[in-house]
Amino acid sequence: MDPAALVEAVVEEVACPICMTYLREPVSIDCGHSFCHGCLSGLWEVPGESQNWGYTCPLCRAPVQPRNLRPNWQLASVVEKVRLLGLHPGMGLKGNVCELHGEQLKMFCKEDGLITCEACSRSPEHEAHSVVPMEDVAWEYKWKLHEALEHLRKEQEEAWKLEVGERKRTATWKMQVETRKQSIMWEFEKYQRLLKKKPPGRQLDVEAATALASVEQEERETRQKLELNHDTLIQQSRVLCRLIAELEERSQRPVRWMLQGIREVLNRYVPILGAPRQTWEG
Ligand SMILES: [Zn+2]
Ligand SMILES: [Zn+2]
Ligand SMILES: [Zn+2]
Ligand SMILES: [Zn+2]
Repeated sequence: MDPAALVEAVVEEVACPICMTYLREPVSIDCGHSFCHGCLSGLWEVPGESQNWGYTCPLCRAPVQPRNLRPNWQLASVVEKVRLLGLHPGMGLKGNVCELHGEQLKMFCKEDGLITCEACSRSPEHEAHSVVPMEDVAWEYKWKLHEALEHLRKEQEEAWKLEVGERKRTATWKMQVETRKQSIMWEFEKYQRLLKKKPPGRQLDVEAATALASVEQEERETRQKLELNHDTLIQQSRVLCRLIAELEERSQRPVRWMLQGIREVLNRYVPILGAPRQTWEG
């Protein structure tokens, strides 16, 4: 194995298969695979992902006991060392050279959002494009990442606030439903006492039961809506969390790797921010 490939292989070992970046607080599971603690617990919280088949490894689908999840300190310290070497998952030493021309990649085509070598930049493909040294656009993109992060953090805060609000409203709603049920029962008992001397009121029984049933039906429907809403909010928070971690990691990379695929990354977060947010009006 040539040294560059070997380095790449080592770096792969310290990448989380879920978020594809450095393992953060790595944990190992029964099958021996390791993930970020946050990524794994995030995945297992998603309804359907865990409930249908019990807990499984996202990589090999082996059944897993969450209580056997253990922090992998040794791996954590390897991650730290690889990080100190300035290596990044998916970015071996080979990645610094143009595959086509064998020259160092140090230019950036603004039109294509691509990293190129000097020979590339003179090729007909980029002839009409503005191709500049990477360092010249580094700050511009660092700033864009910074702005995106600010925006995402604000979104995250909003999402948290919404979730707290939902939780409060759910609690209030539960109390209201209980009160309504109680008062139906009280009314019913009151009438029963009034009619004590007469034969048992069949009609009243039926009426109270019908009233209760309709309250309960409404309760079920509202509960479903609330749960759906809550799941959506949780889902959104999770997406935001992951995006923030991804952008934070990227903004700390060396310029060449910070710029790699930067346009796709910056474009990807826009639709999420623009997505309409559901709220439950009760
Ligand atoms: Zn991860
Ligand atoms: Zn596994
Ligand atoms: Zn080239
Ligand atoms: Zn170009």
